[in-house]
Amino acid sequence: MTGATGFSLQPGEDQLAVAQWAHEFAERVIRPAAHEWDEREETPWPIIEEAAKIGMYSLEFIVNAALDPSGLQLAMVSEELCWGDAGIALSILGTALAVSAIFQSGTPEQQGEWLPQCYGTPGDLKMAAFGVSEADAGSDVSSLKTRAVYDEAADEWVLNGTKTWITNGGLANTHVIVAQVDPELKARGHAGFIVPEGTRGISQGRKFQKLGIRASHTAEVILDDCRVPGSCLLGGKAKLDEKLARAREGGHSASQTALGTFEASRPYVAAEALGVARAAYEYALDYAKERRQFGRAIIENQAISFTLADMRTRLDAARLLVWRAAWMGRNRQPYAAAEGSQSKLFAGETAVWITERAVQILGGAGYVRDSPVERWFRDAKIFTIFEGTSEIQRLVIARAISGLHLN
Ligand SMILES: Cc1cc2nc3c(=O)[nH]c(=O)nc-3n(C[C@H](O)[C@H](O)[C@H](O)COP(=O)(O)OP(=O)(O)OC[C@H]3O[C@@H](n4cnc5c(N)ncnc54)[C@H](O)[C@@H]3O)c2cc1C
Repeated sequence: MTGATGFSLQPGEDQLAVAQWAHEFAERVIRPAAHEWDEREETPWPIIEEAAKIGMYSLEFIVNAALDPSGLQLAMVSEELCWGDAGIALSILGTALAVSAIFQSGTPEQQGEWLPQCYGTPGDLKMAAFGVSEADAGSDVSSLKTRAVYDEAADEWVLNGTKTWITNGGLANTHVIVAQVDPELKARGHAGFIVPEGTRGISQGRKFQKLGIRASHTAEVILDDCRVPGSCLLGGKAKLDEKLARAREGGHSASQTALGTFEASRPYVAAEALGVARAAYEYALDYAKERRQFGRAIIENQAISFTLADMRTRLDAARLLVWRAAWMGRNRQPYAAAEGSQSKLFAGETAVWITERAVQILGGAGYVRDSPVERWFRDAKIFTIFEGTSEIQRLVIARAISGLHLN
């Protein structure tokens, strides 16, 4: 593989320093607060405020991390924050999904106007959400029912429908909503819309109580004759008309807001899974060296030491896949074998496997609420579900390696 920066898995001094800074924040601020916010099941605003004060919850930080030429920086930071706590980390990182959509599909004017509004400033925090999923359109994104109809006289788009499982949904100041413009075209008839703060007709529906990542808010978003100005259509009307015309002729479209955003974010979601897995592995390793049964440390049993060896091996293997995908994405190397999906699939399943093994190594002490391992076990599961389930990642990989449109 060759690319703009050359392929290397050795982070530079700058990247290591930023990752260390994120680690210190995770250790000092996030981890001590993890249990409390997991129990409260609320967005941890005071922690986000802390992150904003040091410049971590900001557009500038996320853009710099994402534009790091090696692609590794955002992956490293995501891992560190989730090492602290995945629920809190997702409250800090969740806005980036909407930011990514605006970056990918917005015009330069739209980027300039809306991106700063996604984060706000310390003391006046803002949040953004990216809404694609619906009750009948989860894995099958092509089945979206939320409609966007253009009111030419008013130069406004009218959005109607209900989004579900949306991170920061309803709580966010800015929502990016993917809606169907031409149902006959299925996924090729989708378009992304910015719904600015204060728009009438958008509201939060049900807030979900979850198994894990409970400090991250997840809710329905209801769009009821929600009108946004024509300028809120990501990419602009001329580009949409061109895309729809090409689709009607049977041609391919260069970009789809939903799929493009998820494809770009997969290695970073995978990096989040690494953070949870690493936290559990480290904790279990320390515990196994200290806990004594039958007159010896439990790590002196091969059943335990070999399990830890496997945990570490899978963790490192997952990180290699994540860093490769992050480097490829940043250096515009095509994911010929769906390397982004490979990283998400393997890291997500590794996090579930490692956290389950960690609970086993701790025994009863891993099964109770005052153990962080219990929380990590619950938190890990989401990484095989959101941003494409493990099955969908396998489907994407199978399609890529076979060249067939498998279903
Ligand atoms: C906490 C949380 C946060 C989320 N945040 C967001 C967000 O911010 N924005 C957003 O738009 N969405 C979000 N989602 C939605 C998430 O992306 C979807 O839950 C996910 O894509 C799966 O869709 P589904 O839940 O409808 O499951 P379904 O699609 O109904 O799948 C159910 C099962 O069937 C399997 N399956 C489906 N199709 C196939 C197939 N063809 N082959 C094999 N197996 C298949 C799936 O893998 C899964 O195991 C979030 C979800 C959760 C739980």
